[in-house]
Amino acid sequence: MRVVITYLALIVIGLITIESAHAGSCAGKTKALGVSRVVALDTSLGQRFGRMQYKEDNLLADREVVLTFDDGPLPRYTKPILKALDDHCAKATFFYVGKMAKAYPDMIKKVSASGHTIAGHTYSHPLNLKRRSTAKAKYEIERGFMTLEAVLGHSIAPFFRFPGLSDSKPLMSYLRQRGIGMFSVDVVSNDSYTRNPERLARQTLRKLDKLGRGILLFHDIKASTARALPNILSELKRKGYKIVHITGRTTYKPLVTDEKKLSQAIAKIPNKKWISYKLLTSAPIPMPEKREAPPINELATTSGDADPVAKTEGDDEKFTAKGKKSEGSSLPTVQKTASLTTDSTDSKLEPAKPEITARVKKPDQSPAKVKGWSKKSSTSSIFKPMEFPEVE
Ligand SMILES: [Zn+2]
Repeated sequence: MRVVITYLALIVIGLITIESAHAGSCAGKTKALGVSRVVALDTSLGQRFGRMQYKEDNLLADREVVLTFDDGPLPRYTKPILKALDDHCAKATFFYVGKMAKAYPDMIKKVSASGHTIAGHTYSHPLNLKRRSTAKAKYEIERGFMTLEAVLGHSIAPFFRFPGLSDSKPLMSYLRQRGIGMFSVDVVSNDSYTRNPERLARQTLRKLDKLGRGILLFHDIKASTARALPNILSELKRKGYKIVHITGRTTYKPLVTDEKKLSQAIAKIPNKKWISYKLLTSAPIPMPEKREAPPINELATTSGDADPVAKTEGDDEKFTAKGKKSEGSSLPTVQKTASLTTDSTDSKLEPAKPEITARVKKPDQSPAKVKGWSKKSSTSSIFKPMEFPEVE
């Protein structure tokens, strides 16, 4: 009873994520990865995820993986990537560029209809977003989201990834005000620079093995990823990794409905400094519950459409991740049990009432380097009372 009360209290204060798992099997696909669990993330505090830059996320347990694809859609490569995911009953998150969505509306609709999560990655993918004026950068972010929703005809997850992972405190403060979650990465595939699919698979899996879990970054505008993904997914299965599908507990909420009024709407939002999460809440923010569940029952199959082959070459982002194993994270483990209703974006998934095991883990302490810029790791975690340096 105490556990249930605690859990409900955390929901009330908006700090906990609600997840659901799905029972069943991926019909006839015994070698498919499936989805181990679905996490409906609460981003109302502008939570950040990805140990390369941020320390406060404890999204994943050991051997868990979140698949992410940036910069698309681009039918030539997005289609085979979708097929590879479908073959494995796996779900991913696609951080999409507004311009690309406008160019290939059928493709992004197909990705969304397949049950994957669509998230924002600006309108035109400026790599130096933080060097633009703050007003212009905000405009890029908001316009990107608005364009994706306009093309899709429905709301999308309030998740954002900075192009080139080039964040800044003013922009992070803004996103927090907007209730938009920020995603960095744990494992960078470097698919922008690795053309050989075998090498891409090998190096990506090697990095993942070192960390033991993580958010993987690919680009669905890269041939190497399209070719390597079937092998990567098969290897993930063989190595015992499990796929976590992240969805939004809420959706992105446009400032205005008319894009022409967007700049004015942005200007009306006061600039706030980056403040400590500790000041936002006195309660620790737990990681999402971990629970065991068999793979999803069925996947939404997609068939190829007649999208034209594009020749767009995405701008590349090369990263050098220096993550450490998380095994040093010996942390207090909190056990909780409760029943939840299923909160899924995929109606084909079978609801379940899983046992919930919540674990609060110590964040990874690893530093991170991104080519072209460097960033000091923040010094604390939102999972414990935490502190962030004030904005300079
Ligand atoms: Zn990008």
